[in-house]
Amino acid sequence: MGVDDHVPPPKNPLPKQCLFCDHNGRLTREDYFPEWLAALFPKAPNNKTRATHKVTRLRADGNTIHVFEGDGRQAKQGRTVDQTLRVLCQSCNNEKLGRLQERAKPILTPLIQGVWIPKGRVDLNTIASWAVMTTMVLEAADPPTISIPKRHRVRFRDTYEPPPGTLVYMAPTTSKKDAAFNHRALVIGLEEGPQHRAQCTTLQVGKLLLQVITSSEEVAIVDQMEHADDFGLLPIWPPPLWAEPVNVRMRDQAGVSELYRTVFAPGAIARIPSLGTRAPGNPEEFS
Ligand SMILES: [Zn+2]
Repeated sequence: MGVDDHVPPPKNPLPKQCLFCDHNGRLTREDYFPEWLAALFPKAPNNKTRATHKVTRLRADGNTIHVFEGDGRQAKQGRTVDQTLRVLCQSCNNEKLGRLQERAKPILTPLIQGVWIPKGRVDLNTIASWAVMTTMVLEAADPPTISIPKRHRVRFRDTYEPPPGTLVYMAPTTSKKDAAFNHRALVIGLEEGPQHRAQCTTLQVGKLLLQVITSSEEVAIVDQMEHADDFGLLPIWPPPLWAEPVNVRMRDQAGVSELYRTVFAPGAIARIPSLGTRAPGNPEEFS
């Protein structure tokens, strides 16, 4: 399979409609990392901090994989935890998803601060829901690669349940950055025609690393336990069927980058089993 890595980034105006409902009016500027989270990090003494947002767009089209890799639109001056996106309506932002933020805050705070302690099932479910919500908002920063269909987001808003086929992992990190997000999206199909889409968001928040892998196919695109073993990640969603201990690895900054780059590597894409449980979707179903 050939690799074409000279694909220019497509233009990407933000979606006009709320990500989680059909509201077309004014959208609020969502801090995708909530205020409680930003408050956990000291303000930088100068303005030299730059937010980390990496985007990889992989499009598999017949025998060629087109690759664009670079900084996303949120890679700009300031802390990553202070960046915003105008993609949610008032109701979804403050009420529906605000409740999930409140629920997640006491569970996530110690993990972000580096206290890695075992969590029970209920807490792990909340962490997984928070990671999925954050991924849904973050991936809107690169509209051409939004990979979670709207129907999944609408259902999530009311249930907080990750869409079918979603995998969520966590691990501790020693990274000194406030936060970073890396979105790696895979589009299988022609540019304008029916497509399958999958994405992997690797999110570092303080000393916590989260990874969310989704597929528009509604089936997991990688083997849950194999991926956990290969990368030293704790599988937290779906609840693993057996309690096999996973050797969870502590990652430094370089380890975070490696983790982000290895998923959907061109060589691995060729080995993804043919996606075919659902008819491919039109590009519009993702916006
Ligand atoms: Zn809404």
